[in-house]
Amino acid sequence: MTTSNPAPILDVSKIRADFPVLHQKVNGKPLVYMDTGATSQKPQSVIDALVRYYTEDNSNVHRGVHTLSQRATEEYDTARSKTRQFLNAASDQEIIFVKGTTDGINLVAHSYGRQHLGPGDEIIISTMEHHSNIIPWQVLCQEKAAHLRIIPINDAGELLIDEYERLLTPRTKLVSITHVSNVLGTINPIEQIVEMAHSRGVPVLVDGAQAAPHMAVDVQKLGCDFYVFSGHKLYGPTGIGVLYGKFDLLEAMPPYQLGSDMIKSVTFESTIYNDLPYKFEAGTPHIAGVIGLGAAIDYVSDIGMDCIDTYEHGLLEYGMECLSSIGGVQIIGTASEKSAILSFVMDGIHPHDIGTILDTEGIAIRTGHHCAQPLMDRFGVPATARASLAFYNTREEIDVLVKGIDRVLEVFS
Ligand SMILES: *Cc1c(COP(=O)(O)O)cnc(C)c1O
Repeated sequence: MTTSNPAPILDVSKIRADFPVLHQKVNGKPLVYMDTGATSQKPQSVIDALVRYYTEDNSNVHRGVHTLSQRATEEYDTARSKTRQFLNAASDQEIIFVKGTTDGINLVAHSYGRQHLGPGDEIIISTMEHHSNIIPWQVLCQEKAAHLRIIPINDAGELLIDEYERLLTPRTKLVSITHVSNVLGTINPIEQIVEMAHSRGVPVLVDGAQAAPHMAVDVQKLGCDFYVFSGHKLYGPTGIGVLYGKFDLLEAMPPYQLGSDMIKSVTFESTIYNDLPYKFEAGTPHIAGVIGLGAAIDYVSDIGMDCIDTYEHGLLEYGMECLSSIGGVQIIGTASEKSAILSFVMDGIHPHDIGTILDTEGIAIRTGHHCAQPLMDRFGVPATARASLAFYNTREEIDVLVKGIDRVLEVFS
């Protein structure tokens, strides 16, 4: 494969220098990390923010009058403002810190879902959802004698919008849909999906786990009612994530977890809940995680989400071209609007074996069902091999992936 590099959109060698973990050998070969879809690597600035917090400012937030507590509280609150800007939410009160995408969806299912769902009601999801955006709704529906409705997809991995339209009925109480598929890379037309739901008075939750790290997200432009993502996929720490919700919806929702920080006053007879966002942040939060997330948002914002998007799209096009030219490789997910995720299967070779052989070449990809078993069923495969890219990957690394796949073919020939 010849590599014809277009004018650089970002300085990838400078970016790579910011990620210490990338500079190591695995099985004697330079590490090629293509598993950002499972979790991203962290720039030094995020690692430094965590160390600085624990070294200099460690203290509980919103409690002490002492200096350390005030510093920790200020950093915590600042990270919330950065997150609000990052999503273009209208107010800091609409930003709830949670553990991650899974936790955010569970919060909405338990709070909003339990409050609004009744027997015979329906929730719409799609065939390409992550288990985290299936199971909370499935269990809620079982509990409430309600029903899950599933938007089908075509062979390219695109939603069938006409079918979605048909599924929207007076019984629909919520649409919960992924922004970007973690397996197919499909970018769903969220604005259109929201518009169609809103015209019938139905709110929409968007699972942004694979979108927020890779493209500019503007929740007001999307119009969605809830948006969730995970810090660890956005080059930040694990254990921290964000739930955005429209103020009026959050205000009317009951708390999800109960305890300290989420209350205004307590007697043994009754409790007055705190204001947003604290009503949904019971207990001591993941302070370091929040501060690390703030550093991650600073990092990607300095580069520019549009630059990241454009650069990664170039990688995707090159990767699709390379992979589709290898005999015996079938790409799963060929949507016209697609993020830099390359899922594939190989004739007669189990994805697990692909992953194992690539690992001997220093290449880290994910193999398995990717927490999307119904989607595997749709494509009639038990698993796929998935290379998921980020702005720290290069075309040269895609060439290494192609050589690794050639090696897999050799081993099984
Ligand atoms: C990773 C992922 C999740 C779950 O995220 P957690 O960080 O594990 O909670 C949900 N949806 C999609 C699309 C994902 O990629």
